[in-house]
Amino acid sequence: MATPPFLIVAIDGGAASGKSSSSRTLSERFHLLHVDTGSFYRAITAEMLRRGVGAGDLPAVRQTLAELRFGTRLTGRSAEMEIDGRVAGDEIRSREVNDHVSHYAAIPDLRAALVSYQRGLADFGRAHGFRGLVMEGRDIGSAIFPDADCRFFLHAEAGERERRRAGQGLHDQIRERDRIDSSRKTSPLTCPSGAVSIDTTHVSLDQVVEQMAAAVAAQLAPA
Ligand code: C5P
Repeated sequence: MATPPFLIVAIDGGAASGKSSSSRTLSERFHLLHVDTGSFYRAITAEMLRRGVGAGDLPAVRQTLAELRFGTRLTGRSAEMEIDGRVAGDEIRSREVNDHVSHYAAIPDLRAALVSYQRGLADFGRAHGFRGLVMEGRDIGSAIFPDADCRFFLHAEAGERERRRAGQGLHDQIRERDRIDSSRKTSPLTCPSGAVSIDTTHVSLDQVVEQMAAAVAAQLAPA
């Protein structure tokens, strides 16, 4: 019997652009594994900071990357990264991690260490009986899954995104992170060519999700 196709949905965009809510909703509606790749960069950042390894100390970053053992745990519908057998907690949303994560994420060796891990989550999703995966991040449609079945790029005015973060009670230097993420040399934040670009500034989350869901449903419909 032929293996049913495994759908790959890539959602990229800046901080607080609506990626997380929309990807969680699509995951639930279509039984897709949910993958928040920002949480991976955050978990590694928290671990580097815990070990006192600065983003400017490349040899120490490389050495630490060689020591870390990455694994995956399924929590609900989400793939969570284990580092040395442990899933990071709320500390990955702390102000300290917000302030440092983009500096670590700009290091090519660190990004390279995550490429095959992220791609391998398709096999993890298949093994757990999902119909596909929805992965959110900054370089999913451009670098991790450039041949994804559906590729979306979400964006919104910076002021609106700051209001969203403040509404969650979080301190986050959104503009500064976007600046670093968009200007780095390796896999910068950008709208991949051919992706569906959606401005979420003035539309409700429901409207955004419906637009995305229609595209996903069309891919899943029998030919
Ligand atoms: O998505 P989130 O805002 O939690 O991501 C935190 C940071 O992780 C981003 O600002 C970016 O520096 C980095 N990141 C990345 N590539 C991804 C996902 C996140 O560089 N695919």
